[in-house]
Amino acid sequence: MSSFDTELNQRLNAIRLQGLYRELRHVDSPQGPRIKLGGRELLNFSSNDYLGLANHPALKEAAVETIGEFGAGAGASRLICGSLTPFHELEAVFAAFKGTEAALTFSTGYATAVGTITALLAKDDIIIVDKLVHACIVDAAKLSGAKLRVFAHNDLNDLEDKLRWADANRSKIGNRQSAILVVTESIFSMDGDAAPLREILALKEKYGTWLMVDEAHATGLYGRNRRGLAEELGVSDRIEIQMGTLGKALGASGGYVCGSRALIDFLINRARSFIFSTAPVPAAAAAAMKAVELVASSEGIRLNQQLWHRVAEFQSAIGHRPSAIPRAIIPLVIGDETKAVTAATELREQGIYIPAIRYPSVARGAARLRITLTAAHTAEDVAMLIRALKSMDLGL
Ligand SMILES: *Cc1c(COP(=O)(O)O)cnc(C)c1O
Repeated sequence: MSSFDTELNQRLNAIRLQGLYRELRHVDSPQGPRIKLGGRELLNFSSNDYLGLANHPALKEAAVETIGEFGAGAGASRLICGSLTPFHELEAVFAAFKGTEAALTFSTGYATAVGTITALLAKDDIIIVDKLVHACIVDAAKLSGAKLRVFAHNDLNDLEDKLRWADANRSKIGNRQSAILVVTESIFSMDGDAAPLREILALKEKYGTWLMVDEAHATGLYGRNRRGLAEELGVSDRIEIQMGTLGKALGASGGYVCGSRALIDFLINRARSFIFSTAPVPAAAAAAMKAVELVASSEGIRLNQQLWHRVAEFQSAIGHRPSAIPRAIIPLVIGDETKAVTAATELREQGIYIPAIRYPSVARGAARLRITLTAAHTAEDVAMLIRALKSMDLGL
């Protein structure tokens, strides 16, 4: 064995010893409430396909039709070989859906955060993020070179401390003042709780900063038009940068930014993950556009009702009080990494697939079973989940 591989195997062993080893589980079926894994059918409570759109006939049909018309691949970056119609159609539909001047789509949500934050901020700018924001925001913040400050999760006092510090430490960058950007998720990916967006906005306005809200787990699920939590709380117009993914409730793939025309034009000129990356397959844009149309229609209302019914059934059965803002992500925190893995294995043996989420997705010692419910689950699916969980030693 080469010394390179020996070194990597040593590192892998250290990962194993901490209960943090990850491996791919080969699934031989589409995403849905049931997946085929290792030749067995399992009930799936692991995906972010909250509305069951990933395998929806209308999305598949839109994708297939677009492949027929525009082919399988995009050929180059949108700035190099021309920007295909499906991306423009999607962006127009998205801006209308979100009620913003403009929208821009990226190949993934990850690329969206990295491209946007590094475009907006440079050395001597300041970025202040919630402790629990997604890895793509942390990576973007580091890559931007801006000064990074982290406030305790949803802690407004700590946020204000960091804002006071930032305000006192603004400096001149060329002919402008350093910018301060606050970033939070609206619904947090591993905990399912909501950010106090109204209160964060009050602070942001007091200190004259910018705000970016990542609606990855809220787009399609909250608000009168299902635009996201910002709509639910009536604050969309006051957020400079709304981002999210097309790959969760929207069932397709890609990421988006919504905001002013100036923001979008600036990103087209400066977001390196947009400029220096081949455009996504046009079929993904077509599927996402169909998803937005479905979500905005009466079908979207029906799917949301179904999802929140399942959530209510599950929460009442395990004795969780319903939260003011409903959550499709329900973590059962176990703590120890190895115990969480054992619990996930036991559940798989009972025919239920729930991942054990561990460091670095969550803090060390905060390993959990992350249960996600979807509109595609039936009441009987949820009843089976409850029976399995109650048969285990989880204190439920
Ligand atoms: C999943 C996720 C992303 C990344 O989106 P992808 O399209 O999967 O790359 C960004 N932010 C949050 C909060 C997420 O949960």
